[in-house]
Amino acid sequence: MRAQVLNRIEAEQERMIKLVSNMVKIPSVSGNEAELAAFLLNYCTELGFECEIDRHGNFFAWIRGKRPGKRLIFNSHLDTVEAGEGWEDDPYSGKIHKDRIWGRGSTDCKGAIGAQIIAALVLLREGADFAGEVCLMYPVEEEVQDVSRKGTWKALMDGFTGDMAVNGEDTDLRVCLACEGMLEVLITTYGTGAHGATPEEGKNAIVMMTKVVEHLCRIVPGTNPYTGKGSINPGVIQGGSRSSVVPDTCTLKCSRFTVPGETGELFLTQINEILDKLKREDPDFKASVVMTYESNPSIVDKEEQVVKAIEAAHGYLGINCPLVGTPQHDDADFLTNLGHIPTVLYGPGSGRLAHMPNEYVWISELSEAAKVYALTILEALKD
Ligand SMILES: [Zn+2]
Repeated sequence: MRAQVLNRIEAEQERMIKLVSNMVKIPSVSGNEAELAAFLLNYCTELGFECEIDRHGNFFAWIRGKRPGKRLIFNSHLDTVEAGEGWEDDPYSGKIHKDRIWGRGSTDCKGAIGAQIIAALVLLREGADFAGEVCLMYPVEEEVQDVSRKGTWKALMDGFTGDMAVNGEDTDLRVCLACEGMLEVLITTYGTGAHGATPEEGKNAIVMMTKVVEHLCRIVPGTNPYTGKGSINPGVIQGGSRSSVVPDTCTLKCSRFTVPGETGELFLTQINEILDKLKREDPDFKASVVMTYESNPSIVDKEEQVVKAIEAAHGYLGINCPLVGTPQHDDADFLTNLGHIPTVLYGPGSGRLAHMPNEYVWISELSEAAKVYALTILEALKD
């Protein structure tokens, strides 16, 4: 059956290329995914999948096995970031050129969606024998920095569940067992305004913030064998109205990428220790901190069935399968931590191209991903 499935995937390559190109031609910036969801509803219904768009706009499609069994989820998001500047061509051209498909969303994540749909289609057409069901889950608003707006989070809060999942983020076809979490804090320093000619009559909030930044940069982020080292980035600083006035407030937005084992609470404690220390050194020092965004790292045990299945798929194809991690944050967090669904990340495309102008995905990677996805289904749902 596996050889038959692989041959059929080769034969369906043109269909897959066209599908991915057509999806790229439908802009689906976060909050505007309805047209793409409607397109997929039509497309997948015609292929013979059972389909649904839920009340949040998330798209679902199922293929069922011949016997009862587990639910394997394939999760990839419908939305993309804005096109932005710097493109050499129309960002929504979906152009097929030099063995690549070009345009916003090609690598993040429409390539994975195309490969997953073709994998499911081939199993359906070949009458493959597997237990349980495959659920294609394509949520809205993965790219927004607000957990409560994210489609995957909303579906899980509604009670959606499964036994294991593959998240199709652009991992360069590497099997990732872990992703990093992302935190953002807003720190404010409070000074006293004065004329810039007599700064001693005021208290400069920007100067106070420079001390905060200095200490923040000394925090040593944790490390994890899969994701590597976490990171900290003071990203946006604002304060003052003109150079001749002592600024009375200054704000800093700082992001922190966390590795498995690190929490938002830990980061807040570290910041509060810094603020307390500065206060001890200078009784006039005044500052506050709030967490403005909090998402968690995720990790899946390498003994989980879904990991074993994707490793077996690589083995069958004769491809090396190092188990790694990704420094990005994605919906694997919610599937794993909120849904308690063991989730592995694996997808075509590169994180280095995602969110950048002239984004593209290699067609050869789409084919390989479709093969790995199909064989993973056969292995994970064999009984
Ligand atoms: Zn993505």
